[in-house]
Amino acid sequence: MSVYNFCAGPATLPPDVMKKAQAEFLNWQDMGVSVMEISHRSEPFLAVAAQSEARLRRLMNIPDDYAVLFMHGGGRGQFSAVPLNLHVEGKAAVYCNSGVWSQGALDEANKFIETVNINVRKDTATGFDVTPASDWNLPLDASYVHYCPNETIDGVELFDVPKHPTAPIVADMSSNILSREIDVSAFDLIYAGAQKNIGPSGLTIVIIKKSLLERKGLPRPGILDYSLEHKQGSMFNTPPTFAWYLANEVFAWLEAQGGVKAMEAINKQKAELLYDFIDQSGFYSNKVAKHCRSLMNVPFWLNNEKLNDLFLSQANQAGLLALEGHRSVGGMRASIYNALPLEGVQALVDFMAVFAKENG
Ligand SMILES: *Cc1c(COP(=O)(O)O)cnc(C)c1O
Repeated sequence: MSVYNFCAGPATLPPDVMKKAQAEFLNWQDMGVSVMEISHRSEPFLAVAAQSEARLRRLMNIPDDYAVLFMHGGGRGQFSAVPLNLHVEGKAAVYCNSGVWSQGALDEANKFIETVNINVRKDTATGFDVTPASDWNLPLDASYVHYCPNETIDGVELFDVPKHPTAPIVADMSSNILSREIDVSAFDLIYAGAQKNIGPSGLTIVIIKKSLLERKGLPRPGILDYSLEHKQGSMFNTPPTFAWYLANEVFAWLEAQGGVKAMEAINKQKAELLYDFIDQSGFYSNKVAKHCRSLMNVPFWLNNEKLNDLFLSQANQAGLLALEGHRSVGGMRASIYNALPLEGVQALVDFMAVFAKENG
């Protein structure tokens, strides 16, 4: 039986990458040791670091005036790093609030700096909805504008990018980085915890416009300091080397799949298959307005919530794992990141159809 893991994070990884890691686990590059047992400053590891950056730059078409950092601390580490590095004396930071994670970023920033909270959700009685970024009313005077293009828990995705005449645009792409083509130059800072679409937890990707590295910001821990990490090649202290190595392998896998453009096409196919099935089922529902439905995280609800436990236990038996929704929104959630194949979504839809028939 095939097993498909719909966990929101840490999430499923490409089997080909896992097999390669397994094959070289004890003996990497014929050195007789594992990649996680060698110095991060050794030639072979520095080669991994350079190769992973080059691959990510190719995959996302990152312009030369952007730095790529491989940091610690996950998405929440960046919730602290962003205000500490980007604060400008006498200016507030604008936080656009579209759900649980953008709220988390705001709460963290409020510990350090002054913020302006802009609500961009416009939920209706029947469901979740969000105002497109083109309609956001952003204050002119801002140190930066922070938003979350894909709310992993709410299943709400923003497909357009906010614009501001002066303030840098900062995006938390933890759950949708590399899922579809974006124009990096429309952003000034992109960050993402690795554990959803890139690799194991612990590693955090930061793509930052080099001019932003000059900001003085506030006193901050060295490991959260962008300019210091940039100067040190992301090796101010020991980086999460195994996660970094695995990320490099995932980037190679992505290139072999045809890059982000090819992934986007598959991701759209996967999402359409699942949403269309849910919408016409009469048994399940998705509460997110169509224009902002996430390509990566699909929350859905059984119309009869008394069947939730039965649904989850039978899904588990069928090899469809981790479908329980986040406690804050309830119901179910299928996370369908890059590494979750179309066959996995088909298997889920087939299971859901049978379950609906048996329990309808
Ligand atoms: C998972 C997630 C986070 C939190 O990541 P951690 O690495 O656990 O700190 C932040 N933002 C978004 C959008 C996420 O999906």
